[in-house]
Amino acid sequence: PARPASVPRLRPDDVFIAVKTTQKNHGPRLGLLLSTWISRARQQVVSPQTFIFTDGDDPELQLRAGSHVINTNCSAVHTRQALCCKMAVEYDKFIESGRKWFCHVDDDNYVNPRGLLRLLSAFSPSQDVYLGRPSLDHPIEAAERVPGGGTVTTVKFWFATGGAGFCLSRGLALKMSPWASLGSFISTAERARLPDDCTVGYIVEGLLGARLLPSALFHSHLEDLRRLPPDAVLRQVTLSYGGPENPHNVVNVGGFSLQQDPTRFKSVHCLLYPDTDWCPMHKQS
Ligand code: UDP
Ligand code: MN
Repeated sequence: PARPASVPRLRPDDVFIAVKTTQKNHGPRLGLLLSTWISRARQQVVSPQTFIFTDGDDPELQLRAGSHVINTNCSAVHTRQALCCKMAVEYDKFIESGRKWFCHVDDDNYVNPRGLLRLLSAFSPSQDVYLGRPSLDHPIEAAERVPGGGTVTTVKFWFATGGAGFCLSRGLALKMSPWASLGSFISTAERARLPDDCTVGYIVEGLLGARLLPSALFHSHLEDLRRLPPDAVLRQVTLSYGGPENPHNVVNVGGFSLQQDPTRFKSVHCLLYPDTDWCPMHKQS
């Protein structure tokens, strides 16, 4: 849809991108993100829109990303509680930031900042907007206890896969606050016994009656990334890669060899930002 004249143009710093990571991934995964999409082309400094949410102090990471690293003090384990603890801190930091859009990604996602801005520009941050890739082809069900009585009802809702990234408008995020702010996200997730990304869908759809707007521009390694046409790769908002267990599940783009760039993120980055100093096409200016 066309942007009404009264709506100001969206600027990169209007978007708050939260990257979820954990101590053991700082070296293997974050290094790649810091040298690609997290840092702006050419000047290798962390872009003002990105914040890294982790679970341990790391002087080396601190040196590279400074105030853009947030130690959540959540425990460094892969449990529902620990992951919800991080999402809760991401949410609170976003609210505090005053920005227009909240986007969450994992540390194995490539974010195309221009693609993201183009997508979000089509919406107003004061409306209820929840954008992402549905995890399943059907809604999930969660049990809800009816207050006062002993009866249990079920609520059906869609949610966006956290591993593909998703975005929330400020307007919707503010409405979520009774179930999400100041640690209440963790109790909401515990009460419904849901993982972090499902809990976001539960609050948005199940509790607030808003809707997930499915977008095919977000990608996780749960899908077959080889099926994305090469000419479409650069138009996507997020990408991912299969990792050591599934090394062939990567996007199909030319550039570096598979040995030099097993995730394809460097190749994508050099196609999007050829003036980056380590890209082969880099021209001195
Ligand atoms: N992660 C975390 N704590 C952990 C394990 C993983 O915060 O103990 C984060 C990790 O950094 C990543 C996300 O959770 O951003 C998903 O982890 P991973 O890609 O390893 O697993 P997946 O769920 O995608 O198979
Ligand atoms: Mn992953």
